[in-house]
Formats: sequence, C-alpha cells, structure tokens
Amino acid sequence: MLQLPIKDVITKIQSETGLSEAEIKQQVANKMQALDGLVSEDGAAYIVASELGVHLFKDTRSGAIKLNDIVAGMQSIEAVGQVIRAFSPTTFTGKDGKPKQVGSFILADETGEIRTVIWDQRASWLTDGRIKEGTIVKVKDAYAKQNNLGGKELHLGYKSSLILDPKNVNVTVAARAGVSKKKIAELQPNDFASVIGEVVQVFAPKFYPVCPQCGKKVTIDAAGAVCATHKSVTQQQAMILNFVLDDTTETLRCVAFRDKAGALAGLTAAEAQEILLKDGPDRLQERVDEFLFGKTIEVSGKVNRNEEYDRTELLVNQANVNPDPKVIAKELLNSGKA
Ligand SMILES: [Zn+2]
Repeated sequence: MLQLPIKDVITKIQSETGLSEAEIKQQVANKMQALDGLVSEDGAAYIVASELGVHLFKDTRSGAIKLNDIVAGMQSIEAVGQVIRAFSPTTFTGKDGKPKQVGSFILADETGEIRTVIWDQRASWLTDGRIKEGTIVKVKDAYAKQNNLGGKELHLGYKSSLILDPKNVNVTVAARAGVSKKKIAELQPNDFASVIGEVVQVFAPKFYPVCPQCGKKVTIDAAGAVCATHKSVTQQQAMILNFVLDDTTETLRCVAFRDKAGALAGLTAAEAQEILLKDGPDRLQERVDEFLFGKTIEVSGKVNRNEEYDRTELLVNQANVNPDPKVIAKELLNSGKA
C-alpha cells in the first residue's frame, strides 16, 4: 500500500478539485460509512481521491513511496531509506572522453531494499564518507529501471535531488534478505550476519567528538574541532555502546555507534550526556541496563576480528530491540534450547 498521510491526501484533493477541506472530509466519512467501516480513513481518502480523478502519486513531491512499491518505469520518485551497504565508486572514460564516476548503495526501509545508482559528484560522496552505511537518504525526482538481472534499480539523474540525513525522518529497516541469520559460534570474520541473543552485559556508553556533517571523528586542536573533509566544524558528541550477546552457542561482543548506540541504549547521545553530568556514571549505567540488559534482541552487521583483544566482534549496522516473538521462538528451536 502506498503511504501518504491523510492530511496530504486532503491537501492534494483540495488543490486539484477546489473542494473545501470540510467537503472532502465529508466525502471521506460518507465513503467509510458506505463501505460499512471496512476501510480506514486513509483508505477511504484514497478512494475518494481516485473517484475524483486525483492522481496522488503522479506528483510524488507530496510524499515518499515505500521501496517495495517502486516498479521499473516509475518516474519522479520520492523515497526515503537508510543506506545498508555502500560500494566504492568506479571511474571510467565517458563518450566525451572525460572521466566519469558511477557508484551505488543499497537503500532499505521497512518494506524492502533497492540498489540506488548515483553519478559523478554524488558518487564521490561514497568516497568522502558523506554516504555510508547508516546514512538516512531522501531522494526526489529519481526514476526506476530494470537491471540486467531483472531486478529493479533506483537511478538519480541530474534533475534528481539527494538529501542526506533529512530532519525529522525516521527509517526502520526490514531484516535483510542478504544477511544470513547465524549462530554466534558459526560467525567468521568479515561475515555480514544477523544474530538473535540475550544481552548478558552492557558497558557504560562512551562518547567521542564527530563532525556534524559527515559523522566522522574529528581531531581537536587549539582552534577547535577539525574534520578531515569539512575542516573547521562545531563538534557533536557521538555515542558508542558495547555489550555482550549470548545465544547459547557462544557469547559475542557487539559494538554500536551513533544512532545504533542510541537505539540500543534507549537514549540519545545528548540525553546520555545529560544524565552523566547531572546524575553521574552509575545512574547512566543503570538507565542503560534498565533498557537493554536481559532483553532478547536482534542485531546485524559486520563481524570483525579484534586482534588487540583477541576476540570476534560484531559492528552493529542494524538493531532491533523488539524482535518478533515468533522469530525468537524459531531461533531457539533451531539451537535446541526450547
Ligand atoms: Zn566532516
């Protein structure tokens, strides 16, 4: 189902038909009644729009489409998602003899994922760290086409916009098809894997200064914070959270940064720092324990070998602190625990 907030649907109908908001709402109410309450208010609004000949998604500037609803051939696509894989761009010589760059990343939302292709200046954002795993991306005026494998791809042309980390946008990412569910004991360095387990230890959050534009760690000199790409910046504090997961086959040290650390701690970096300053480290530890300790969670990401500590770690890319109980039950059965 295409999603558009009802107020946007009403605004759209208003602008295309000249009906008043009250008249449209009345029609929506009539439609709901006529259908014996079988449709939601949103659903009724879609039907009213359609009956009035209003094309809600023709001009997608009024709302983003879910990634799973994108089909090859669509134009003027607006979509929002999180980058779950970023690939290094390739440089080649264009027909005009000039060097060209093409790059791509996998964009995901709660409905699915799609390879997204970008060119030249934007492709360089994959190199300078502006687009990386975890970045929230909004695209406008993109188009979809079929790739060589029969799948769909999202393409950005020169008319398209690409907005990084848009304000007030939250993205939930579906469990990835490309990431295999694994037992902790099976993990190998460089795997991309998803693991379900119980949090058996949580360490106090730590903080480090980052660039507000690219999220990379900044160096602090006499004049202030300096980002390798963005030069002199006003630093922000980012959070790191370390914890240990146990799935009965083995325990696994997990490391989460930034928004993933926030989601797992149940606190933003700013909130955590405020508690730290006002109530001290013990209270902060308590708060994080209350939220995360003993929970069964699902995390996915890249498995790294930490030579310094001689252990395998998971660098958390996605975290779900409330996984579906059915999925948990299945995992437990597989491990022979239940
Ligand atoms: Zn920067």
